[in-house]
Amino acid sequence: MPSEKSVYYPNSNLFKNAYVNSFEQYVDLYKQSIDNPEEFWGEIVKQFYWETPINIDKFFMYNFDFRKGPIFTKWFDGATTNVSYNLLDRNVRNGNGDKIAFYWEGNHPDDYSRLTYKKLLEEVCKFANVLKSKGVKKGDRVAVYMPMILESIVALLACTRIGAVHSLVFAGFSADSFAERILDCSARVLITADGVWRGEKHLALKSICDQSMEKCARNGHNVEHCIVVSHLGRVTSPPTAIQQTNKTPMKNGRDEWWQDLMEDASSLCYPEWMQAEDPLFMLYTSGSTGKPKGVLHTTGGYMIYAATTFKYVFDYKPNDIYWCTADVGWITGHTYMVYGPLANGATSVMFEGTPFYPENDRFWSVIQKYKVTQFYTAPTAIRALMKFDNELVKRHNLSTLRVLGSVGEPINPEAWMWYYKVVGNEKCSIVDTFWQTETGGHVLTPLPGASPMKPGAASFPFFGVQAALLDESGREIEGEGEGYLVFNRPWPGIMRTLYNDHDRYENTYFNKFPGYYCTGDGARRDSNGYLWVTGRVDDMLNVSGHLMSTSEVESVLTEHPNISEAAVVAKPHPIKGECLYCFVTLTQNTSYNDKLLNELTKLVRERIGPFAQPDVIQNAPQLPKTRSGKIMRRILRKIAVNDRDIGDVSTLADTNVVEELFANRPVNA
Ligand code: ATP
Ligand code: MG
Repeated sequence: MPSEKSVYYPNSNLFKNAYVNSFEQYVDLYKQSIDNPEEFWGEIVKQFYWETPINIDKFFMYNFDFRKGPIFTKWFDGATTNVSYNLLDRNVRNGNGDKIAFYWEGNHPDDYSRLTYKKLLEEVCKFANVLKSKGVKKGDRVAVYMPMILESIVALLACTRIGAVHSLVFAGFSADSFAERILDCSARVLITADGVWRGEKHLALKSICDQSMEKCARNGHNVEHCIVVSHLGRVTSPPTAIQQTNKTPMKNGRDEWWQDLMEDASSLCYPEWMQAEDPLFMLYTSGSTGKPKGVLHTTGGYMIYAATTFKYVFDYKPNDIYWCTADVGWITGHTYMVYGPLANGATSVMFEGTPFYPENDRFWSVIQKYKVTQFYTAPTAIRALMKFDNELVKRHNLSTLRVLGSVGEPINPEAWMWYYKVVGNEKCSIVDTFWQTETGGHVLTPLPGASPMKPGAASFPFFGVQAALLDESGREIEGEGEGYLVFNRPWPGIMRTLYNDHDRYENTYFNKFPGYYCTGDGARRDSNGYLWVTGRVDDMLNVSGHLMSTSEVESVLTEHPNISEAAVVAKPHPIKGECLYCFVTLTQNTSYNDKLLNELTKLVRERIGPFAQPDVIQNAPQLPKTRSGKIMRRILRKIAVNDRDIGDVSTLADTNVVEELFANRPVNA
C-alpha cells in the first residue's frame, strides 16, 4: 500500500459505490486480467453484440519480438461485429433510446442543442446512406475535417456503420498538412463544414479544404466528393465579428451541402458486419517529436478497450454527465468523447468553443450549466486557467463533480494541487491518465475510487497492461528506479500498424528492445510502486553525468509563484556535456529581472541539486506548442543553440512564437 507521504485518498462518501472501491480490489482485478486475460475480457465482451461469436482459441495472439518474425497483435480474430451497432442500436434496444447522448454547447453561450441515442442512430443511418450513394464501400478511407459539432460524430459513426475507415484531421491544421494526410490515405470523399467560430476567431474550413483538394489534384489525386455542413448560418457570431460577406465557394459536381443530401436519405441502414481485426480508423499522432505517424486501430479490440477504460477510469454511472474538452481531432476526442462514452450509453457534453470566451470562466460555467460529474482536460488548459483569480472558479457551483481527469503531458504537482483544491474542492479524485494515440486508451492511471493519489503520478497500469522499466541495456528494473517505459504484451486497444508503413511501425516501437512495445517515454517507480512518467526519453538531460528528466526541473520552476509555465531543454556544453536551458512564462503582472532569475536558480539548486543549476533562463511570454497544446521541446532545443533548421512544423500551432523566441535569446545564451 502507498505510504502516507503526500498521498490523497479517494473521498469515501463519493466513491462508496464505485465499480472498484478499494486498492485491494484493484489489485485482485488487475491480477486476474494478467493471469487469466480470457476470463477477464471474456466477461466484458459478453456485454457487446457479436454477429459471429468470439472463438476462445483465437482470443488473442501476438508477437512483440522481431527475432521471431513480423510484429503483430490480434484480438478476437474471426469474430464479427459492428461498432456503430454496439454504440447505438444496442443502447436503443436496451431502452435508452430517449437518453441524451450529447449536449452540444456552442462557442457562443446562446447556442446549444442536444441529441438522443435514437436520433443519433437515425442521423448515422441517414448519413451512412449518403456515403453509400457517393460510392463509399467497406475498407474505403474517408477524410474528415470538422469542428466540434454533432455532425462530426455522425460522420465518424456513419463510416463505422458501413465499414469505411475514417481519417479525421484536426480542423486547425493548415491546407498543406491536410492535403498530405488525404494523399497518405488516398481518400476520395471529404467531409467538412463551411466554417466555425472559436472564441472571436473565424476559421473558413471549406476554403482550407479547397486549397487541400487543389494540392491533392496537383499530386494526381482527385477528391471526388466534398460534403459540407452548413454551420455558420445557424450560430451566433461574436459581437466583434466583421460581417462575413464571402459566400462559401462550392464546386459544381464535387461539393454538396450535408443538409441537402440528408433530406432525402433513408434512415434505415443495415450495419456491415466487420471482422474484429478490420481497420476502424486511422489517426495521426500530435507530432511533438517529429513527423506525425498515421496510427491504425481495428474494430473489436479498440471498441472493448475504449468501453472498459471509460467505465472504470471515470467510474461512469448511468445518471452521470461526462465532459471531455479534447477536440475530436485527437485520440482523446476519439476514444473519450465518441467511442468510450457511447459504448457505455453515457451522456456527454460536446463543447465547440474555448475556455476563454466570452469570459475566462467558461469551463466552470459549462460544468455548472450541465451539472457535470466527470471533467477531463489537459494540463496546458489547467495551467492557463490557474493564472486567473480563483474567484472565477468559486463563483460557480461545481459541487456535482466527482472525477477530474488530466491527459496529454505530465501534470506538474503545482497544477495538480490547484485542480484538486480549487476545482475539485478537495473531494474529487484526480485521474492522471497516461496514454498515447498508439495505445488506443489509458494504460497508466489511478482508478478514482481505489487508488490513493500522488500529485503528478500516473500511478498504476490499467487492467491487462503489464508495464516494465528497462535500463539502457534492456534489463528490467525491479523495484525503485527510472528507465524506459515499455509494455511486454498487448491489451485489446493497442494499435496494429502505422498506415501503409509497417516498417516504420516495427522500427519506431519494437526495435529498441526485442519483446517489448517501447513508448518512447521515461518513467520512475517509487518505493510504493507508483509510476511517474518523466517525459520523452529523447528529452532527458545529462549534466556532468547526472541524468535528469525535463519534467523534474519544470515542476520545480513552476513552484515559483511568478512562473506559470516552464520548459527545459538540454544544450551542449563543452565541460558538462549538457547544460540546462530553461524557458519560463511569467504570471500576469510580474517581471523578468535578476531577482527572479536568482530565486529560480536557488530553487532548482535546493530542490534538485547544484548540478541542476540552469545555465540560461529565457523569458518566454509564449511557448511553441502543438495544435493539441503540448510543448514542442525539439523546437526549443533548436532555439537554445540558435539553429533555424527547425524541421517539420506542420503541427505547430503558431509559428510567430518561434520567431519571437529566436529574437529574444538572452545575451548569455
Ligand atoms: P508524436 O508521437 O507525433 O511525437 P505525441 O506523442 O505528442 O506526438 P500523442 O499520442 O497525442 O502524440 O501523445 C502521447 C504522449 O503524450 C505520450 O507519449 C506522453 O509523452 C504524453 N502524455 C500523455 N498523457 C500523459 C500523462 N498523463 N503524463 C505524462 N505524459 C503524458
Ligand atoms: Mg508519441
